[in-house]
Order: sequence, then structure tokens, then C-alpha cells
Amino acid sequence: MAETAKPLTMDTIVSLCRRRGFVFPSSEIYGGLGSTYDYGHYGVLTKNNIRSLWFRAMVQERDDIVALDSAIILNPRVWEASGHVAGFTDPLVDCRTCKLRFRADQLEDGRCGRKPSKRPGETPDCDLTEARQFNLMFETHVGALQDESSAAYLRPETAQGIFINFKNVSQLARRKPPFGIAQFGKAFRNEITPGNFLFRVREFELMEVEFFVPPVDAPKWHTYWIDQRLDWHRDLGLREENLRVREHSADERSHYSSATSDIEYLYPIGWQELEGVANRGDFDLTQHTQHSGTKLEWIDPDGNRYTPHVIEPAVSIERIFVALLCDAYDEELVGDRERVVLRLHPKVAPVKAAILPLVPRDEGMATRARALYEELRRHHVVEHDDSGQIGRRYRRQDEIGTPWAFTIDEQTLEDETVTVRDRDSLEQERLPLFGVREWLDDALQQDWQSPRSH
Ligand code: ATP
Repeated sequence: MAETAKPLTMDTIVSLCRRRGFVFPSSEIYGGLGSTYDYGHYGVLTKNNIRSLWFRAMVQERDDIVALDSAIILNPRVWEASGHVAGFTDPLVDCRTCKLRFRADQLEDGRCGRKPSKRPGETPDCDLTEARQFNLMFETHVGALQDESSAAYLRPETAQGIFINFKNVSQLARRKPPFGIAQFGKAFRNEITPGNFLFRVREFELMEVEFFVPPVDAPKWHTYWIDQRLDWHRDLGLREENLRVREHSADERSHYSSATSDIEYLYPIGWQELEGVANRGDFDLTQHTQHSGTKLEWIDPDGNRYTPHVIEPAVSIERIFVALLCDAYDEELVGDRERVVLRLHPKVAPVKAAILPLVPRDEGMATRARALYEELRRHHVVEHDDSGQIGRRYRRQDEIGTPWAFTIDEQTLEDETVTVRDRDSLEQERLPLFGVREWLDDALQQDWQSPRSH
């Protein structure tokens, strides 16, 4: 095997996702809707895996975090109290010449609309307006009337749904600080410059924990969560050399934050935020106490009252999805053939194993393959594929990252064994047919490290 590595581009990932049915441009038959995507079968499976691994680490395997699923459209006063109506903005500039809009704080990453494309402001012809603040929340209306009194917003984060339920949860779930509330779900931001595939989209799925702690302990818990989340990304198989932590400077921080660190990933577009871990202080609970008149505070057994501080690890499935595909994408020569392979962690891979009858016309092979498939599919997502040459079937599975393929061949008919082929090493071994289920269960429990790690 020889590596044929060239620098990875986002376009390579986009075309693999399309070719193999992970992700499609949305509304394509109507010309699309800029930077909006739909997920196909393998995309849905991969997203489900990411979400359930997150939920497992954040809720199922912990005693101190409980789950919540709050509404997407909340009382609009929530967003006044949270500061989003006044402050959830990005600075926007228009170019009067090319008619495009850019984020004033990211002009160096922008491309102007004329050919050859330049950085906005780079040529004397660029005619940029002064920057003005643009609110990123999508506005909508609730009910039949469309006036100011019916205006509402699609949530730009899931966090506020958690804060407004602080009292319900802390009382009913019988939790005391330090404890957390976890929520995943769609969030919407009218980004000025969406792009780079799923990296910056207007509709995405956030996974957030608001972790409530005694104020003096907040710095300690902030560090704890940065470490925890970094470990989680490593466990998912992201390579160490592609991850780093970067602390925000004071002028970068959001309106609610007293300290934020980003876990960054080395995407094909450079180091960018994968997950943010913010210390939100008591900002949100204090704001909602003032605006709603409901005290959101903690009273300890000695009667001392305090407003807990909040540490928030927040990440979108989309940014993890892109990072995982970029990290896993590989091309290599096997013999004289090039193969594309996604070296995904088996727990993340959309399909865990393929069941392939070598000669589909052979009834003995076909029956055994079908029976094995029926048995395995009750426990794992597996695929049965009997169309085309075996080499092509292997390559199809390599491209979607299926870690193992079980092949039923002539020898199976003689001794009831199958071949298992390993996606990464391409090694093959034989297993008894009756032992395949246990072998797969066991293989999926093993620790995994990318074979590309340094
Ligand atoms: P950025 O600076 O990249 O705009 P942000 O600092 O506004 O991001 P946060 O408000 O911290 O982002 O959002 C929490 C997490 O949500 C981010 O770490 C990222 O994983 C994800 N996220 C934010 N905006 C988007 C988006 N437009 N598309 C996909 N994921 C996003």
C-alpha cells in the first residue's frame, strides 16, 4: 500500500458526501438555498452516532447531569433578557460595487464578487459601507396576526431553554450544584457569510450542557470541562495533532461570557473553532431573575442563597461531522488501484459491517449471507450487498467507512467459516459463521486510534 496523500480540500469532502449519499445541497431542484444541506441515509446514521456518543458521555455515564428538551420558539422576552435582541450581532459591511455583504471582522477571509475575486476592500474599486450591527436571530410570527406583538425568534442557542427551566429541574430532579442540564436540538442563526460546507450553516444541531456551580468553583470547573471535552474528541478518533485549545481574548468574548476557550480543529480551511467552553458566570440566571421576577437561585441546606455560575461546553454536530470526515479521509494505492477510505472510529462509522456473498448467484452463499445479515441487523447497522464485483463492493464500503466486511465464499460452504476483512489494514482472517455476532460485538467495544496518528 502506498499513500497518495495530497493536501485535503473541503471540496473533496463535499464531493464524497454527495457521491456516497451523506449530504446533499438542500432544495437542489429549485436551485438550492445557499449553504443549506439535507442529510442522506449515511449522514443521518453518522449524526445519530455522534449525538448518542455525546449523550452517553454527558448524561448516561454521569450522575450530575440531566436531560432537557425545550421548545425552539420561546417567549420573545427570553431573548430580551438574555441580551440576544440587543447584542447577538455581527458587524456587517456592504460593497456598493459587487453588492455582496461581508463580516467586517472577517474581511481577510471574504472573497469579493468580481472576477478575479479579491479580498473585500483590496482594490480601489471596492466601495465598502461603514460597518453596522446585524442581528443573527431569525424572526417569525406566532399565531394568525402578523404585527409587532406576535413577533418571535427561532432559538439561536439551546442554552436559554435550559436557564428558564433552572427552577423546575433543580427542584424536581433533586440536584444541587455542581450539576448540569444537557440539551441537543436545532438552532438557527442568520449568518452573514455562511460557507465552507457544514462548517458555518444557518440551521444546525447544537449539543450543549449548562453546568451550574458555586461561584468560587467556576474557574476550576471551566478547566475541568475543557479537559473533558478535549478527551471526548480524542476518544472519537480525532487525531491529537489536529486538536488544540485557544483562549479567547477579552474583546472576542460574547456578551455573556467572562472566559471562553475554544477547542480548535485543523480543518482544511485552517485552525477553527470546533467547540466552545464558556464561563457564563451568573449573567443568564441574574438576567432572567430580573426580567421574569422569578428567583433563579440556589438555597443550600444552611439557608445561604446564591446564584450559581455556569460553565457551558457547546458544540454543533455539523462541526464534529466535518472534522471527523476530514480526519478520516484517506487515499492510497492498493496494488495498482487507488482507493478512497474513511478511517472512521467504528463507533462513529454509519455502517458497522458489510455482509457480502462472493458469488450472489450461488444459492448456498446467498442463503447464508442473508441469514447472517438478518441476525446481525437486529443488533447493529449492517449492510447486505450482492451487486457488482467483490472489489467494487469493498471499495463502496471503504468510502463510507465500514470497518469490517464479512465475505461468504466457497470455503463457507465446506466448513461454515467466513472471511473478515479489516478496512484499515486490509488483513483478512477466517471466523466460524456462528461466532460472527460475538466477534462484532467485541470488536465494537475495543478502544480505537486512527492508524494515521503520529
Ligand atoms: P463563530 O465564532 O464560529 O461564529 P460562535 O463563537 O458564535 O462561533 P458559539 O456561539 O460559541 O459560536 O456556538 C457554539 C458552537 O456551535 C460552536 O463551537 C460551533 O460548534 C457551533 N456553531 C456555531 N455557529 C455555527 C454555525 N453557523 N454552523 C455550524 N455550527 C455552528
